[in-house]
Amino acid sequence: MTELDRAAALERIAGEVRACTNCRLHETRTRAVPGEGNPETEVVFVGEGPGFNEDREGRPFVGRAGALLVKFLGTLGWRRDEVFITNIVKCRPPENRDPEPDEIAACAPYLRRQLEILNPALVVTLGRHSLGRFMPGERISAAHGTVRPIDPSTGASNALAFALYHPAAALRAPEIERTSYADVARIPAALLESRARREGPPPVPVEPFEAAPSEPNSPGSVAIALEQGAIAIAPAQGGEPAAEPVAVGVAVVAAPDPTPDHSYLTSSEPTGLDDQLTLF
Ligand code: URA
Ligand code: SF4
Repeated sequence: MTELDRAAALERIAGEVRACTNCRLHETRTRAVPGEGNPETEVVFVGEGPGFNEDREGRPFVGRAGALLVKFLGTLGWRRDEVFITNIVKCRPPENRDPEPDEIAACAPYLRRQLEILNPALVVTLGRHSLGRFMPGERISAAHGTVRPIDPSTGASNALAFALYHPAAALRAPEIERTSYADVARIPAALLESRARREGPPPVPVEPFEAAPSEPNSPGSVAIALEQGAIAIAPAQGGEPAAEPVAVGVAVVAAPDPTPDHSYLTSSEPTGLDDQLTLF
């Protein structure tokens, strides 16, 4: 998808959100808050739901909690318009109460579709409700500052989640604010980790082929043929390799630094010859 396609697809969702009446929160909102940011970003921040100021402006994180979030981003040298910022529910719960489970469920498709379009490497969760979507079953007190792979059903098909306390909680407790600065400092490392996962070796189709003749047989010797990055291993039988390889694998040398240290085996059948496979 080009940047223009992404921007247009996100704007289409924003239009649907602004007109949405799928849950009772539409009755009390002033403006819905779809979310905003750079369509090409690798990092999406997901809060809970709009508060008083967000409801008036139709933009996420523009009140005091937003000012602290912007300060957090500043410690990384990031501006808010370089990332994407949105919420679990797009309309303000009255009196800033917690969103109800049925409201969260009604609003979930919008965030899922936003993430499908953005395809981020990292989703930074802000607070409990966002944590519940991206790290189900985790407690914020244990999960803050840590990463987990994200379930692709969230719409983020190949991403890590990174948990932060909600900035509003940091505003209420200096201890949480201090912890949050330390957690935020770990975001770049989490992004690098996610990039490395995403840039892992592409799957290579495995095509068995006939094994080359091996050394004259000794018990347990194997024939190994290496061709076009694929290997086949067959037990030597009376000087002839077996017709069928007992293990087939693919040795992939990762670009851009093709040293043996970066070689690994992506596929093999169980053969009891695992010690042979460690060659690769
Ligand atoms: N708190 C949130 O969770 N989201 C906002 O957009 C603002 C405050
Ligand atoms: Fe629609 Fe979400 Fe707003 Fe509910 S909170 S009315 S589902 S946009």
